[in-house]
Amino acid sequence: MTNELYDVVVIGGGPAGYIAAIKAAKLGGNVALVERGQLGGTCLNRGCIPTKTYLKNAEMIASVRECAKRGIVLADPTLTVDMPKWVSLKNRVVKRLTAGVGVLLREHNVTIVQGEGRIEPLESPGNGGARFNVQVHSEKGDGGEATVLATKNVIAAGGSKVGRLPIPGLEDPRVLTSDTILDLKELPDSLAILGGGVIGIEMARIFSATGVKTTIVEREPRLAPMLDVELSDALAKTFKREKVDVRTGVEVEEIQFSDDGASLVLAGGETINAAAVLLSVGRVPDESALEGLDLEREGRAIRVDGSMRTSIPGLYAPGDVNAQNMLAHAAFKMGEVAAQDAMGHAEHTVASDPVELLKYTPGVIYGEPEAACVGLTESQAKEQHGEIRVGRFPFQANGRAIASGQTDGFVKVIADAKYGEILGVHIYGPCASELINEAATLMAAEATIEELAEAIHAHPTLSETLMEAAADALERCLHLPPKKG
Ligand code: FAD
Repeated sequence: MTNELYDVVVIGGGPAGYIAAIKAAKLGGNVALVERGQLGGTCLNRGCIPTKTYLKNAEMIASVRECAKRGIVLADPTLTVDMPKWVSLKNRVVKRLTAGVGVLLREHNVTIVQGEGRIEPLESPGNGGARFNVQVHSEKGDGGEATVLATKNVIAAGGSKVGRLPIPGLEDPRVLTSDTILDLKELPDSLAILGGGVIGIEMARIFSATGVKTTIVEREPRLAPMLDVELSDALAKTFKREKVDVRTGVEVEEIQFSDDGASLVLAGGETINAAAVLLSVGRVPDESALEGLDLEREGRAIRVDGSMRTSIPGLYAPGDVNAQNMLAHAAFKMGEVAAQDAMGHAEHTVASDPVELLKYTPGVIYGEPEAACVGLTESQAKEQHGEIRVGRFPFQANGRAIASGQTDGFVKVIADAKYGEILGVHIYGPCASELINEAATLMAAEATIEELAEAIHAHPTLSETLMEAAADALERCLHLPPKKG
């Protein structure tokens, strides 16, 4: 047991945890952060950053293939993929960022403790107001005594882990997950991806670009079913053109392995054969730090309020662990508000519940083209607001997109019919992940389509499409032909 009393002990060094630790330290707290693996969590080590490193490579492959069309002649157009180099590039990128997190934490005087943390609430406040002990067991399993950290508050940011399904064969160690597939040094000839959500789609885009024959199998009737239906349809169209086999509305009943690879047995008896299988059916909270605690729940998820407080006073659960919105930028915000509250600065936390806090959080599916959204889908907007206005603008009519040869896709803006407040923006097209942030900022400021349509955007830029879609919602877009009928 250390003699030190912490204001905040954070468990988990991912986006929610490391931001919470830095924020609490900035607010004057004595802070420790417990991490059993690498700083940076899923996002930096196995998620956002590794996938984007590979997606950049996929994009470069597509660009090389486009060269001839644009009058760039390569002397030897043979293209091969050196996977060991991909892996080492990815590892260098990850190392640079995770090291940066370490530097930031140390420069803010956060004590970093390596090991698995478990929370023990104290029955009555201890010396100096301690409410918890955090037991930290070293990863080395040396059987030695646990380090015990006494603290007034705990921010449990244990994140999430790969979700599984009770399908016979899925427990086979040959089944790849997002934790393992990005370390493959040899490409399989073919890949069957179980799950057509965000991760499955990004992986399909990466591996199909390298020439791997890719199949996506999705139980729901469409890809990424949480998206506006027009985005799902656009993704499906792109995959069709790129010869990625997408099977939606299909249930996998069993996976059988042989020396040649795997067979996915579908309901109805059809089989899909592939050299490798990737499981990507979503993620589930990692509650290892919270084991044995009697926390209030909402369904299966831990209940938190808008400051990330759980039902145990002094215990917070920001990030993927509360399953509210499993995205890194949502985790950053949740970590920050948890730290503010723990340090007695709750006045900065304006949201009454997590849904309100995360209302204008954009979501992106990366790859070429990107799909991005913020706010309500068209059907949600109709359901919640009755009368709405919808404006669209295609990238085919945007000068910058035409100059870049990236004309696939559209911007769709949804607004309330009475006041014109922007309710949702959905983009399929080049740089959608960047464009969506303008929409999210406007929505957070409760801007209207009138204001967006009137704001002068630089020309030629892709973001003009946002302005044009807003003008279309008002039926005054000058770069579209008049609507018939
Ligand atoms: P995590 O990042 O999971 O961090 C939790 C940390 O806690 C881990 O390091 C873990 O080791 C540690 N931990 C857990 N329990 C304990 C314990 N008991 N003791 C000590 N340490 C513990 N999100 C995006 O916004 N954009 C993307 O492009 C994106 N791409 C993704 C791609 C993939 C393949 C995956 C898997 C995820 C992606 N995500 C993306 C999601 C994003 O990674 C998560 O939303 C984000 O990492 C959540 O942050 P977190 O801090 O809540 O949890």
